[in-house]
Amino acid sequence: TLPTIYAITPTYSRPVFTAELTRLANTLRQVARLHWILVEDAATRSELVSRFVAGAGLPCTHLHVPTPRRYKRPGLPRATEQRNAGLAWLRQRHQHLPAPQPGVLFFADDDNTYSLELFHEMRTTRKVSVWPVGLVGGRRYERPVVENGKVVGWYTGWRADRPFAIDMAGFAVSLQVILSHPKAVFKRRGSQPGMQESDFLKQITTVEELEPKANNCTKVLVWHTRTEKVNLANEPKYHLDTVNIEV
Ligand code: UDP
Ligand code: MN
Repeated sequence: TLPTIYAITPTYSRPVFTAELTRLANTLRQVARLHWILVEDAATRSELVSRFVAGAGLPCTHLHVPTPRRYKRPGLPRATEQRNAGLAWLRQRHQHLPAPQPGVLFFADDDNTYSLELFHEMRTTRKVSVWPVGLVGGRRYERPVVENGKVVGWYTGWRADRPFAIDMAGFAVSLQVILSHPKAVFKRRGSQPGMQESDFLKQITTVEELEPKANNCTKVLVWHTRTEKVNLANEPKYHLDTVNIEV
């Protein structure tokens, strides 16, 4: 049987919320054996996301954990608590199973663009696999540099000193590795800007061990697109619409 792909998506309430989730669901729905773990950055599960999940048309788990307010500042890493909640759920669900289930974990932010081929590539992850990411790091793409089938360095324009100079969308981890490293989590304490991926990957693998995907890391199958902040300057303060419409 195909290994299940677990996609952990941190998300938070904002005007483009439903639009982002709709676009992502339209991609993920086309992937076989995919389980979507949506983690809301909120004190409770919102009704909006609960309804969305119910009608999403793919296997979903809806979690929530609020980011402490002191961490909601520009320059600080985002979605640390949400990704960890997804990891905790995965571990809890699998730790008591008699036989190990084949699975692959991937962190799917809600605003990126994912080709279907990407899921095909990551499905064969044995430990930790890597591939290029488009439109990131101030370049058209970043990628792991591969020689003789091994990652030997990083093509990047930003902080090339990172042990793993890779975006969150540029790697996948087998469920076995997640379960056999039960303490591996995203860190707040001691983590510098842009070091989330490196801090996490350091806990579970080495550069030598990485499995290059996407034709030895020469194809871009995922793009770090970002959604423009919506202009709501003309929202009415009075003379509101006669119906209350959810967007
Ligand atoms: N996110 C979140 N809470 C926040 C900000 C972001 O849960 O306060 C989520 C967001 O929905 C996305 C991920 O964290 O899935 C990464 O955030 P963003 O896309 O803004 O980061 P960037 O594109 O700058 O890496
Ligand atoms: Mn983003």
